[in-house]
Amino acid sequence: MAFRPQQWRNIVTVSQQNPFTATVLGLPRVGPRRELKRAIEAYWAGNIDAEKLHAVARELRRAQLTELLAAGLDSIPVGTFSYYDQMLDTAVLLGALPPRVAGIADPLDRYFAAARGTDTVEPLEMTKWFDTNYHYLVPEIGPDTAFSLHPEKLLEELREALELGVPARPVVIGPITFLKLAKATGGPALARLLELLPLYRELLRRLAVAGAEWMQIDEPVLVTDLTAEEIDLVQITYAELAEATERPAILVATYFGDPGAALAPLAGTGIEAVAVDFTSGTDVSAVAAVPALAGKLVVAGVVDGRNVWRTDLDRALATLGTLLGSAGRVAVSSSCSLLHVPYTLAAETRLDERLRWWLAFGAEKVAEVQLLATGLHEGPEAIGADLAAVQAALAARRSDPRLNNPQVRARLAALGPDAVHRAPAEQRRELQRDRLRLPALPTTTIGSYPQTSAIRLARAALRKGEIDQAEYVRRMRAEIADVVALQEDLGLDVLVHGEPERNDMVQYFAEQLDGFAATEHGWVQSYGTRCVRPPILFGDVARREPMTVEWIGYAQSLTDKPVKGMLTGPVTILAWSFVRDDQPLEESARQVALAIRDETVDLQSAGIRIIQVDEPALRELLPLRAADQPAYLEWSVRSFRLATSGVSDATQIHTHLCYSEFGEVIDAIAGLDADVTSIEAARSHMEVLDDLNAAGFDLGVGPGVYDIHSPRVPSVDEITTSLRAALKAVPAERLWVNPDCGLKTRGRAEVEASLRNMVAAAAAVR
Ligand code: GLN
Ligand code: ZN
Repeated sequence: MAFRPQQWRNIVTVSQQNPFTATVLGLPRVGPRRELKRAIEAYWAGNIDAEKLHAVARELRRAQLTELLAAGLDSIPVGTFSYYDQMLDTAVLLGALPPRVAGIADPLDRYFAAARGTDTVEPLEMTKWFDTNYHYLVPEIGPDTAFSLHPEKLLEELREALELGVPARPVVIGPITFLKLAKATGGPALARLLELLPLYRELLRRLAVAGAEWMQIDEPVLVTDLTAEEIDLVQITYAELAEATERPAILVATYFGDPGAALAPLAGTGIEAVAVDFTSGTDVSAVAAVPALAGKLVVAGVVDGRNVWRTDLDRALATLGTLLGSAGRVAVSSSCSLLHVPYTLAAETRLDERLRWWLAFGAEKVAEVQLLATGLHEGPEAIGADLAAVQAALAARRSDPRLNNPQVRARLAALGPDAVHRAPAEQRRELQRDRLRLPALPTTTIGSYPQTSAIRLARAALRKGEIDQAEYVRRMRAEIADVVALQEDLGLDVLVHGEPERNDMVQYFAEQLDGFAATEHGWVQSYGTRCVRPPILFGDVARREPMTVEWIGYAQSLTDKPVKGMLTGPVTILAWSFVRDDQPLEESARQVALAIRDETVDLQSAGIRIIQVDEPALRELLPLRAADQPAYLEWSVRSFRLATSGVSDATQIHTHLCYSEFGEVIDAIAGLDADVTSIEAARSHMEVLDDLNAAGFDLGVGPGVYDIHSPRVPSVDEITTSLRAALKAVPAERLWVNPDCGLKTRGRAEVEASLRNMVAAAAAVR
């Protein structure tokens, strides 16, 4: 009989199913010291060529894989590396880049053009990845999209991994998630599913031929509410892919929640494994309820991939043990990709020792996975010492006095219903109108101005002790004076101090509040090359002293125009921190809100007439299942109102929201009761205004009139057109004119040119 090697390999992998025992679902990619960020930005600036960029990327992947191999994982994800975003990579994989970038010949430049735009090309929209603070690029699928397979990136990364002897498991985003998250024109995206399936089948074949024994197909969208028809499509898709004769074993990964009703149909197909997240509400009994899982490998996400607390190993082992009773086999895993946590605790030299004892970052989570796999397969005795060590750490954490501040708790308990109410909006409007005397269509900005290298150098010098606090304050004041002068020159109506003193809008406050700890190297990718260092909320929150009053008061002393005070709201502070897992988020939100409330009152006393409390993350924390949303919206709105209702009715409260589809939270935006809401709209073309109107929203609104995520300078005409479009939906007395977000990531020259055009457009429309 003629014997074809490829067929032979396929028979071995799929039937024998070489199941693995310890893995994680995906990997961070910016580099432990943000090496990739720096290389990409150097490439954009023209300081290095593509060759050099690829070399940096290859070396980062090599180092990472080598480390994971040494840690003992027996299946390692590959292909979660990205130069910008995994959804964009999937769009490239499936030949689904928008036609407007097709003319760019160089593939890397085409890729970056789709990600961030060019002088002539608009980028893809960007929005939050499920309920995380990671942003993905939204693929556009239209009548012109002709899908075709381009697996070179994935094959290349697979080849690299196999050469290193890594048990590589290529990862792609699945067709259901890809289509559900895409923006479709000319018909629903899922209608295109049948066009994608042959491509995924071909991809399976190519991966098998290249030597992959397993592949992972990510379908996080299965943890959201799907219709019965959509669940049928899940079943059809995976039944069809499993039928392929030449393929690796298939792991379908769900994460960020409970796959619910989608689990049984998925398990009923011929795929070999399912990943389930047991850290976000999925009960083990859900697996027992699906008999088909008795024949599958269940990849159990028992190590939280999104938070930084040490895993309670005893509890995780109990979960794994229960699973053994109903799953065919069980592997231990992180609940989701480690993209969402910092690389390693080992890099932290200044963390409080007790706190460090309670934590696990990426590398430590890999070690936990490995320990649990050992405990599961060899019995708990095999990891007895580790179990005891974890119990000791958890007990110390529970009894730490910083987790219980009696004054804060007493103040919150004593708050009456008045604490979240202001006078009716109409009444406030009149008081504020008389006090502020602003022109129609007032112009303003969202808060930050470019973080110049002088600012960054000053901050670094202070950190290193090269300059003292007084010199630092002098330099920041010089920046503030500069930005105030610029705004006066531009003719803006409501000024800001520019936020030069803030490394980050959340970290800045966290550093000044009890209950939070900062990391030195805990960088996490937010989008593209933008990384953040989320603070760790570990204890009760209390404000030690005013946090912003000196800076903003100084700015106000330089001008007669109103300077808008800038604070970050409680929901956003929590959303962009690693939060306590020992009390409800709502409780933490109330504590943060109280601290912000005290700050608003102090700003008001210092003569500040407008205060903006940013809540860009309001939408982000929205639970993925509709049934859980009302309770969240209720407490998040209350916490904002608690933060903003301590000031007088003549003080104008602004808020700012960005990065999302606001449809589901429109009522909550009205519920915030902010006098003025600035909202990202430039990338989604003002659709948000119609939604606000439909919800009966009748407060001030500043839909972003241009996109600050791209270096493009918008023309006066363009902004005028935007404003006219906005005026169709909103009467002039309620309309504000502003960019769609803060300007900190932009260059000074672009900002000046863009704002000049914005002010000119406002004047023209007035
Ligand atoms: N005030 C902040 C800034 O301008 C708001 C940032 C944001 O919305 N993410 O930078
Ligand atoms: Zn914003």
